[in-house]
Amino acid sequence: MPDYAQFSQQQLEEELARLNEEYAAFKARDLKLNMARGKPSSEQLELSRPVLDVLNSQSDLSSDDGTDCRNYGVLEGLAETRTFMGAMMDEHPSNVFIYGASSLKMMYDTFAQYYMFGVLGKTPWCKLDEMKWLCPVPGYDRHFAITEAFGVQMINVPLLEGGPDMDMVEDLVAKDASIKGIWCVPKYSNPSGTSYSDETVRRLAKMHCAAPDFRIFWDNAYAVHHLYDDPARQDQVLDIRSACEEAGYPNRYMKFASLSKITFPGASISAFGCSFANMQEAKKRLGVQTIGFDKLNQLRHVRYLRDMDGLAAHMSKHAAIIRPKFELVLDALRENLVGTGCTWTEPRGGYFVCFSGPEGTAKRTVSLAKEAGVVLTGAGAPFPYGNDPEDSVIRLAPTLPPLDELRVAMEVFVCCAKIACVERLLA
Ligand code: PMP
Repeated sequence: MPDYAQFSQQQLEEELARLNEEYAAFKARDLKLNMARGKPSSEQLELSRPVLDVLNSQSDLSSDDGTDCRNYGVLEGLAETRTFMGAMMDEHPSNVFIYGASSLKMMYDTFAQYYMFGVLGKTPWCKLDEMKWLCPVPGYDRHFAITEAFGVQMINVPLLEGGPDMDMVEDLVAKDASIKGIWCVPKYSNPSGTSYSDETVRRLAKMHCAAPDFRIFWDNAYAVHHLYDDPARQDQVLDIRSACEEAGYPNRYMKFASLSKITFPGASISAFGCSFANMQEAKKRLGVQTIGFDKLNQLRHVRYLRDMDGLAAHMSKHAAIIRPKFELVLDALRENLVGTGCTWTEPRGGYFVCFSGPEGTAKRTVSLAKEAGVVLTGAGAPFPYGNDPEDSVIRLAPTLPPLDELRVAMEVFVCCAKIACVERLLA
């Protein structure tokens, strides 16, 4: 293993010359590989084909309570779908609303409603002179794009091993009433893959907030996305609803989830879970937007996945496909980058590995990889305004490429990361 920090100037120069040769050989191969977005592979999508066979023109299209799913109505979703999503989201079915196909759109819409009309009778956020939002970093670029689109001032909060830096969060929300919320991906976070500790969940639930309309946007996008079947190797996160109820702030959270990375991204169902008061408000506003969402799709999904056992069996098939990809990525990092000053997360679920190079190397690594035909998520993407203050974080998304392509993509990545490290030391 190289220990770059101990290398002399001459050793570094020799290493760079060697790496540049390796890099030139990759470039000559005219590669076209992509590790940029967290999409399921086509092999994973194949797993859900039977969802399409559940309903046909001969099927009984009534839900358990006799609702004709072909027609208008049932704004909040079919009872059996609410029961299913409630079990997945730790909510009573009556606290679950089944939305359309995208949880991202649902989060945007929830934010937009609070922005335009306010939270439970409080001043609409659009009427405030200033408004801020806490953004644990590294985080999900599309969350930050939503708050950015509304002109909200985003505040970076470091995401530590067990969740956001809670000393910082508590301090900020206690003294600043213009901070109205926080983005949270509590389990197998995008991109770090880490999960919130029980203590983090309790502190979020009970912290004193200067803003009475402070909201936790609890995006549990990876709630059931374990890489291992053994429960001892799966992360568990304390339920935010019970924690908020216990702390006396039952309305503080909004839970979001979807079946995007369970069946078909963009053609599945999403849901939010919340307190009775939040539900009443949301239903009133959503009832103006629509007479009801796609109940045939709700029916099809619940008939196929059935219950939590059916869901676990289905997710285990996903895990069998993506686990070797995560292991390949982690092996490549362990075998090649120990001693270079780079670090990375070793998640037990989710869709990403989060890589950190020495300060000032991320953009260079990403651009070297691009020139050699390997597209990575843009450096800076996991930060508000696309600005990684240390230029060190790169999100690796192993799920989409087939294993043989991923292997080559990682060879290129490792070479580029090393070049960036050595150049930095020589600079
Ligand atoms: N939240 C997180 C944390 C995600 O990583 C993703 C997908 N990359 C989404 C939401 C998007 O979910 P949906 O397809 O339900 O809009």
